[in-house]
Amino acid sequence: MTHEDLWQKSLTSIELSISKANFSTWFKNTAILSADNNHIVIGVPNGFAKEWLENKYQSYILNALREIEPSVSGMSCSVYNPQSHVHSQQAEKEVSVEAKVVESGQNAAAKGQAFAKDSTPQGKSNLNKRYTFDNFVVGEHNELAKAACVAVSENLGKIYNPLFIYGHVGLGKTHLLQSIGNSIQSKDSSKRVIYITSERFTNELIESIKSNTASAFKEMYASIDLLIIDDIQFLSGKEKTQQEFFHIFNALHQLDKQIVISSDRSPKAINTLEERLRSRFEGGMIVDIGLPDLETRIAILREKAELKNFFIDDETLRFIAENIKNNVRELEGALNRVIAFCDLRKQEPTMEIAMSALAEIIESSKKKAIQGKDIIAVISSFYEVKHEDLIVKGRKKEVVHPRQVAMYLLRKELNMSYPGIGKYFGGRDHTTALHAYEKIHKLASEDSRFSEEIAFLKDKLYSV
Ligand code: ADP
Ligand code: MG
Repeated sequence: MTHEDLWQKSLTSIELSISKANFSTWFKNTAILSADNNHIVIGVPNGFAKEWLENKYQSYILNALREIEPSVSGMSCSVYNPQSHVHSQQAEKEVSVEAKVVESGQNAAAKGQAFAKDSTPQGKSNLNKRYTFDNFVVGEHNELAKAACVAVSENLGKIYNPLFIYGHVGLGKTHLLQSIGNSIQSKDSSKRVIYITSERFTNELIESIKSNTASAFKEMYASIDLLIIDDIQFLSGKEKTQQEFFHIFNALHQLDKQIVISSDRSPKAINTLEERLRSRFEGGMIVDIGLPDLETRIAILREKAELKNFFIDDETLRFIAENIKNNVRELEGALNRVIAFCDLRKQEPTMEIAMSALAEIIESSKKKAIQGKDIIAVISSFYEVKHEDLIVKGRKKEVVHPRQVAMYLLRKELNMSYPGIGKYFGGRDHTTALHAYEKIHKLASEDSRFSEEIAFLKDKLYSV
């Protein structure tokens, strides 16, 4: 492989992974100058580019190079004159990355057949039979999302196209998306379904370009009946991948093939989503999944326990569900932990076992849930001082102690930095925050009545 080939292929993969602006700023007019002893020297047009590529993009570049040439051991940059380099290489026409992709697409047609039959991951549906509509518990938080998914699976490509489901991590998006795929395949196995995460989509696209099968890759995607793309937020900032996805999206959409997409936020909230892609998403149906309420959490636990043939009484289920609120995956993890505890001790599940199995998880899940403003609220109500008096600069004597306790808790419970705490309190110096923390810490260790006060405040904090 020539230096130019190696570099063009590497650039193609780098371009897919970073933003267009960064790519054109830092990688324009670069070339491989030499590759002695597996050390690659990259020519860059100026000192800025040298500094950036060596410091900020070093690992990107090495990864991209090594994917093609695993023997590459290191890289450095050297300032050169792009014009004279092109001549010395006798490459009059400097081949742009864009042109390369098109070219590789053309000769890919011939390889298309082999590509589709290949056992490469690209042809696979990636469905996991574990996820079905039947074992998906419905509550108020996901009712609409589930109804939309069922409707789509019964009217493929005919209503809600695309269907866009969003919600925080661990709330059942993948489960629902996979259920659509499984439902379609069980009704009609001739239907072609592909489930893929947007990260993997990006990697496969990069691979296909490297192996000159980009057009076969696109053709394959354009020929399926249901395309499920999970976690589309990872396409954020990858303009080139978004463009390719846009073309595949359009090809499918025009043929009334179904597209289902998930994301951890709404299309509007995905910062660097190409405008035309965003408006495509908004042209379909957008549904969110919220947080499950207590009863639904209990029902989910019951469903999961049944799937595992594990009997667990209602009181214990309720205890788990009351303590883990924000994430169904964590809820499931907590149940599995209780089951493992019981198995190890060869005991039936009881509240005591659940409590000791979950002590750590409950502690950390509580910690995750609170925010700075909760601390301020608890302090201001306990010491009966106003929010503003706590925050703003001012030397009212009666707020000094409450403020120091608040600073202490921000550090202790939220691990906030001292400069961060200073800023939070109206731009105070970080030494003020440090002093407050140390003072309250000392007080609590010396004065048992005061340490009870702190314990009481923490209790209040986590029980809201
Ligand atoms: P997300 O993709 O939103 O991050 P997942 O779909 O991976 O979440 O869900 C995490 C776990 O919780 C999975 O094991 C899934 O089966 C389970 N789960 C989430 N919601 C439900 C539900 N309503 N009923 C049953 N299981 C659920
Ligand atoms: Mg998921």
